[in-house]
Amino acid sequence: MQKTNREEIITNPPSPLSDTKLCDTLHKVFGFHEFRANQKHIIQTILEKRDVLAVMPTGGGKSLCYQLPAVLQSGTCIVISPLISLMKDQVDSAKANGIRAAYLNSSLSAEEQSLVLDDLLSNSLDLLYVAPERFTLNYFQEILSQVNISMAVIDEAHCISEWGHDFRPDYLSLSTLATHFPAVPIAAFTATATHKVQQDILERLALRNPFIVRASFDRTNLFYDIRFKENTTAQLVSILKSNSNKAGIIYRTSRKSVNETAAMLQAKGFRALPYHAGLEEDERRKNQEAFIRDEADVIVATIAFGMGIDKSNIRFVIHADLPKSIENYYQETGRAGRDGEPSQCIMLFSQSDIPKVRFFIDTIVDETERTRALGALQKIISFASTTVCRRKTLLDYFGEIYPHDSCNSCDICLGIREVVDSTVEAQMLLSAIARTEERFGATHIVDIVTGSKNQKIRDFGHNRLKTYGVGKDRGKKFWRQLIDELLAQKIVAKSEGLYPALYLLEKAVPVLKGEAQVEMVRVQEKKTAKKTTIKDTGTYDHDLFELLRALRKQLADEQDIPPYIVFSDRSLRDMAAQLPQSAPDMLAVSGVGEMKLQRYGKQFLNLIRRYREEHPETVKQP
Ligand code: ADP
Ligand code: ZN
Repeated sequence: MQKTNREEIITNPPSPLSDTKLCDTLHKVFGFHEFRANQKHIIQTILEKRDVLAVMPTGGGKSLCYQLPAVLQSGTCIVISPLISLMKDQVDSAKANGIRAAYLNSSLSAEEQSLVLDDLLSNSLDLLYVAPERFTLNYFQEILSQVNISMAVIDEAHCISEWGHDFRPDYLSLSTLATHFPAVPIAAFTATATHKVQQDILERLALRNPFIVRASFDRTNLFYDIRFKENTTAQLVSILKSNSNKAGIIYRTSRKSVNETAAMLQAKGFRALPYHAGLEEDERRKNQEAFIRDEADVIVATIAFGMGIDKSNIRFVIHADLPKSIENYYQETGRAGRDGEPSQCIMLFSQSDIPKVRFFIDTIVDETERTRALGALQKIISFASTTVCRRKTLLDYFGEIYPHDSCNSCDICLGIREVVDSTVEAQMLLSAIARTEERFGATHIVDIVTGSKNQKIRDFGHNRLKTYGVGKDRGKKFWRQLIDELLAQKIVAKSEGLYPALYLLEKAVPVLKGEAQVEMVRVQEKKTAKKTTIKDTGTYDHDLFELLRALRKQLADEQDIPPYIVFSDRSLRDMAAQLPQSAPDMLAVSGVGEMKLQRYGKQFLNLIRRYREEHPETVKQP
């Protein structure tokens, strides 16, 4: 595949329209102070009535690209979206900014639907979300022919391609859009499209001289961290403790481990809930709802969880088991930090997890599918085992060149890990494996080198081996890690079966003879604890932030919407840093537009005023 430096690839950029007008709307309606990469170009193109295809990562701010023109243009912008579950959220969040928005789908009663149609016909909607199957119905087309349509948007446009992973036959009928609406611009958006899928979208939608944007897949606000998995329970507890009150997802492979982990966390007092396809639909829905509404902090889930979740303030995603592929990892971690705020992606990884995954892959009957799954597994293992910048490797996978040496936002680049020469120690292990005739597993080999006095050692007389106890000055964890490294470097391998034994591979010979070195990546404990606190979020008053959060929750409940729709985490953090005292101060806060100021400004300003009075020491700024 051809690699590109995809900072921003733009074909035929549009001529600039009135900048002031756009910036003004951005500020007044959305409360934002600057456009994100590509947003302005896309908006200008749409306003020039030209078609657009934009491939932008999750959190890139795609909605604003059509919501802003929808506000500026007369008529209704029709948004075709496959995810019914998301429509309500999208509409609620547009309405929170004062945009006249509605959706039509099967979740509405006949009466509610006819109210929406009335609004549509009386030209009272800026935005209308519909599912693809409805869009193509004759009666709906008939209605649309009586309405002034400003533009058509196709969300999740990759669904139209059979090469994509979410192909939706319904989407194929959208190919008539351009003929139905010859004078209306069509804007297609997706977060995932290979070049092949991109071409397919262009052709199937028959876009006319489209402006094409492929934004970088780099999620700059995500911190990638892969840790050696040794004691999952203790590690999860410690991560959650350092993220208290923050929303996060813990991914596990099996339903059983989801249930166990959720129960374990609940027993320790965390607000955690399980989610997997085996739960009753009602419970699944309730758990998801509790998470979205900030009533549960943590969702422990299989990969069944995530599609159709728009929650923008997810602060961490933990993979407690190995993800299926790099693509899965990117998608799943991608759910963190949609609001652009710093968020953590932590994977717990040990080579000893691999046989389990292998076992599942081996049960796949279809050979092509099995080979594909194996290939994907190999890639994610090598991603987790390398000492190259995580971000660089991820982007490389998507055919993108990361232009910097260090990203400063992954475990590798922060130097949390260091490479040390471990040849002598490796020789000890290899020799223990050889002297026990390659018949024992990792635990026993570690027991030998650390001089364990257990029964099995004595039964086999392994306490009389030359290597017995040679490594007792180091902990078992060190030796487990080194075995992992030897496995990763294909110096040793594990036999198949229930009790896999370690055996030597060809590369072990030069190591034993002292002709080849073994380097090991070592995690530096102290630095880890200190440095993995993600990129600086600036200083803000944490106590005030918590009070603002509580107020946000209260207002959200009153209106029956998720808290992040009232205000984003970023807005609350800005308030807790700037301590606004007046309406103009409040408008300077990111995400506070005129509608939100009018709706919530007073209550938040009151709370902040009371807080200042009770904590005069905070008045030193702004
Ligand atoms: P996508 O659909 O591309 O995943 P969204 O449209 O949901 O992304 O936007 C992600 C988040 O970024 C939302 O919370 C949105 O309000 C915010 N956002 C969008 N544009 C901007 C901007 N120009 N400045 C600040 N925040 C923005
Ligand atoms: Zn990096």
